[in-house]
Amino acid sequence: MRMTCDVCMHRCSLENGQTGICRARGNRGNGIVPLNYGRLTSMALDPIEKKPLRMFCPGSRILSVGSFGCNLKCPFCQNHGISMAGERDSEVVTVTPGQLADRAADLRDRGNIGVAYTYNEPLVGWEFVRDTARLVRMAGMKNVIVTNGSASDRVLDGLLPYTDAMNIDLKGFTDRYYRKLGGSLEVVKHFIERAAGECHVELTTLIVPGENDSEAEIKELAAWVASVNPRIPLHITRFFPMWKMTDRDATDIGRLYALVEAARGSLEYVFAGNC
Ligand code: SF4
Repeated sequence: MRMTCDVCMHRCSLENGQTGICRARGNRGNGIVPLNYGRLTSMALDPIEKKPLRMFCPGSRILSVGSFGCNLKCPFCQNHGISMAGERDSEVVTVTPGQLADRAADLRDRGNIGVAYTYNEPLVGWEFVRDTARLVRMAGMKNVIVTNGSASDRVLDGLLPYTDAMNIDLKGFTDRYYRKLGGSLEVVKHFIERAAGECHVELTTLIVPGENDSEAEIKELAAWVASVNPRIPLHITRFFPMWKMTDRDATDIGRLYALVEAARGSLEYVFAGNC
């Protein structure tokens, strides 16, 4: 029977056996299921600043895990090897939520504060995040989600009760650019507004030359973030040629700092990244 996935704006309508645009969810006969549940492609104990989070538990480390799949198609993706992969082309280690929560607790003596769900887009497999986050919270540890913010209210309803912090990409501030990346600016804005009301939120904007690097766009973006909360930290980060986008140079450092200054006109905390 044909079924529709309600996890993101694509609302994939899938026949039995078909897989969605994100490659992480599919109709397998008894509903839309997360194909990447508990299937990890990456795991590392990272500094929290690498998420990036600058104003949440500074100096700590966090067990960071990723799976496969993503619902956007950014041509400059740093993690395209896993974000653009499906279940057949990913090397995975399978874990249960309990095993992952136990691993996080074991790493406490190495400075670990919890689990970060990151690397690919974690919300296309949000059920594993929810089930793990519940146990991590019960163990007195923290949950961090690093996301493109392109998920539905139902997903947020399920995750926010267990989420301590998020870094959300705000990739630019035009519908044209979001369409090019396969997403929706309106969906991300709504996601940020809701998340910022319930957990610590920091935002990241990657400055891609010729795409989203005008001062006018960054000023508009920063003014909107300030209308949500002027104390939300914004990371303005440098692009490097990557994957399918090798037709332009890395972001000019002078340009990046000019955009940081422009954003500081509206926001209290603006950080330059990848410099
Ligand atoms: S999460 Fe995946 S399957 Fe579901 S609507 Fe989005 S792209 Fe389609």
